Amino acid sequence: MAKTLEDCRALDAQDPLRPLRDLFHIPAGTLYLDGNSLGVMPRSAPARVADVVSREWGTDLIQSWNKNGWFAMPQKVGDKIARLIGAAPGTVVATDSTSINLFKVLSAALHLAQADSPGRKRIVSERSNFPTDLYIAEALCRERGFELVLVEPEELGEALTADVAVLMLTHVNYRTGAMHDMPGMTAAAHAAGALMLWDLAHSAGAVPVDLTGANADYAVGCGYKYLNGGPGAPAFVWVNPRHANRFWQPLAGWWGHATPFAFTPDYQPAPGIARYQCGTQPMISLAALECGVDTVLAAEAHGGMAALRSKSLALTDLFIQLVKERCAGHGLGLATPEHHAQRGSQVCLTRGEGAYAIVQALIARGVIGDFRAGDGGRHQDILRFGFTPLYIGFEDVWNAVEHLRQVLESGEWQRPEFNRKHAVT
Ligand SMILES: *Cc1c(COP(=O)(O)O)cnc(C)c1O
Repeated sequence: MAKTLEDCRALDAQDPLRPLRDLFHIPAGTLYLDGNSLGVMPRSAPARVADVVSREWGTDLIQSWNKNGWFAMPQKVGDKIARLIGAAPGTVVATDSTSINLFKVLSAALHLAQADSPGRKRIVSERSNFPTDLYIAEALCRERGFELVLVEPEELGEALTADVAVLMLTHVNYRTGAMHDMPGMTAAAHAAGALMLWDLAHSAGAVPVDLTGANADYAVGCGYKYLNGGPGAPAFVWVNPRHANRFWQPLAGWWGHATPFAFTPDYQPAPGIARYQCGTQPMISLAALECGVDTVLAAEAHGGMAALRSKSLALTDLFIQLVKERCAGHGLGLATPEHHAQRGSQVCLTRGEGAYAIVQALIARGVIGDFRAGDGGRHQDILRFGFTPLYIGFEDVWNAVEHLRQVLESGEWQRPEFNRKHAVT
């Protein structure tokens, strides 16, 4: 294990993924550990977006739907994302937001459950799942007469009773960075007669995912986190081909129609994943998302997802080790599992007091992480640091821990300006 700044520099010099950092615009003086919230801008994005605006929109105008492939963009970008999540070509679309896609697949899953096993009336999820997932599930339960059951991760096994229709989990927990065993949990859901829905918001582009190998039923994920697609980038949705044609999704808009340009008054869903589209998609945002997905695919020439994963684990191992060694005695705890199989690509530290202010003091030094509030119970306030192996190096980890050490040792986090809460944390 690296012990010094020089050791970290040596690790960077040997890193086969190091050249990929040049694909990104990393602002001077910024050490960015928040790619799990908003990925860094690919260098290719400004020119690509400018071209979509000035040439495709400005000059080609309406012809762009055919000439510049606009109509096919959700499936084209979906096929690229498919390579990162173990999905077959033609089974993913890049469209809408994660929340909206979750509504679509969860609704379809409830229809499927109702048809195949009508007695099942429960959706099970984790209490510490990302709130929008829980809100969408709660709304659908109210509408469709289902019940949402929330449990802690260690209670999931016993929660899979004979009345469960869908197990809905986020693969990597946004708050703790803890990662579920996707094949194992999917098998457990199926053994209990339930459908398995995965949210890959903190997984796609961050950890290896094999939806096909795990035999999952539905998945959604986010475009602006580890896929580097830009603020509000379209999300994605995958449906196992064995289910794709069985039910309508509820937002049956014309882009999901079998023949949208026939303009028929009745709805005929397109076969396969295409029916999970709703209406006209944002072409400028899809172009930026494609640039982002291409940065992750660029790793394929350097060892691919396996190389990204081993670097991510090395970075997070180093961060954990250096925090233990160099920030001891400052009341920090570790919320992220140390066991590799249970860890995503982020590390979350806890501190009883001052977590928000410490993050603010780090941001003032150019070290960008974020803060997530605790719940006053099981979950403490969290300082969250995301490690995107495409552009974060070992020297960055050293420097981040050194700043954290200085912020804690000097007590500078106690200054009033670091203790005023902003709207977005
Ligand atoms: C980031 C995230 C979302 C975001 O949903 P939006 O619809 O893009 O706002 C949803 N679910 C999880 C688990 C997330 O981490």
